[in-house]
Amino acid sequence: MVSGPIRLGSPLHAADDAQIRPPRTDLVRVLAAEDPRDLHDVIEIMRDPRCQELPRFVGDLPHDVMIYPDPSARSLERSQSRTRTLDRVPELPEVEYIRRQLHRAMAGARITRVIVRRPTLRHPLPSGFAARLQGQTVRAVERRAKYLIVELSSGERLLMHLGMSGWFRAAPAQLEPHDHVVFEMSNGKAVAYNDPRRFGFMLLLNAAEHAVHKSLTRLGPEPLDPQFDARTLATALARRKTPLKVALADQRVVGGLGNIYVVEALHRARLSPKRRASTLVTSSGGPRPAVYELVDAIGDVLKEAIARQRRTGKGNPFRVYDREGEPCPTRGCRGTIRRIIQAGRSTYYCPVCQR
Ligand SMILES: [Zn+2]
Repeated sequence: MVSGPIRLGSPLHAADDAQIRPPRTDLVRVLAAEDPRDLHDVIEIMRDPRCQELPRFVGDLPHDVMIYPDPSARSLERSQSRTRTLDRVPELPEVEYIRRQLHRAMAGARITRVIVRRPTLRHPLPSGFAARLQGQTVRAVERRAKYLIVELSSGERLLMHLGMSGWFRAAPAQLEPHDHVVFEMSNGKAVAYNDPRRFGFMLLLNAAEHAVHKSLTRLGPEPLDPQFDARTLATALARRKTPLKVALADQRVVGGLGNIYVVEALHRARLSPKRRASTLVTSSGGPRPAVYELVDAIGDVLKEAIARQRRTGKGNPFRVYDREGEPCPTRGCRGTIRRIIQAGRSTYYCPVCQR
């Protein structure tokens, strides 16, 4: 293992064009970067489809990330047992779970006090953040993909993203390390925003800004929206030449569907992650039968994950995710789960029953 801080300067940042290359070492460990936002840049680069790397995060050490340039590196398997926290990056089910908690605590109540203990998350909080929020009534707490949207009586929206490690606690008994922002409500309830790595963000948008904010306008259909159906998904997949897995993980195709849930949904729908996305769509743009099953599978994996209502837990709750080499759980199938890298992310699938 090669360890020690690397400078987060030139080599990666210089690679804005198609020249992204993994670092030369088998295993690079970035330790305690001076500014966690630098790590965010590294992670974003690692997620670039051109970069065949697999980012994984070590949860015990804040601001510590392990990067595996070569997924087949011998040290990977040994290290994986310590890197389960990849699953803790909030995905749509976790964000929806938090949304429900926030809605219960905040909707219909007035924000009486905002305590800012740390004014800089991924970005600095907007100027006058606390003053602009105090006195406003929360109309509702909504979600779009992985964004939380607090609708305020002024017509403004508080747009929030949990980043890599953000989480809200309702009714905190006491404040804890990394509780950066606390909202106290007129109903006596409070919620605390905790984010050890501070990759999350909070923005205050007026109605006009909200309508055009680029984080929201680029998103594809919402997979838990009742209107998300086979026809909607077929339209989103039409003419996409990329592998189905890569298309589904694209936020412009489906908003908020993360790597894990794409993998799980494809296994349930018995669809190969490698097949070309457009093969699910008829020449007239309509859904082939498999799209109906895929829509059901997407809804099922997300709803089950919300129902689990746990951020971490002992054991792996997934059918194929992180189960390389294990027998396929499909009844009657004798396949073995395989792992491949697609667009820089791990895909787990059964080559026998997924077609
Ligand atoms: Zn199988």
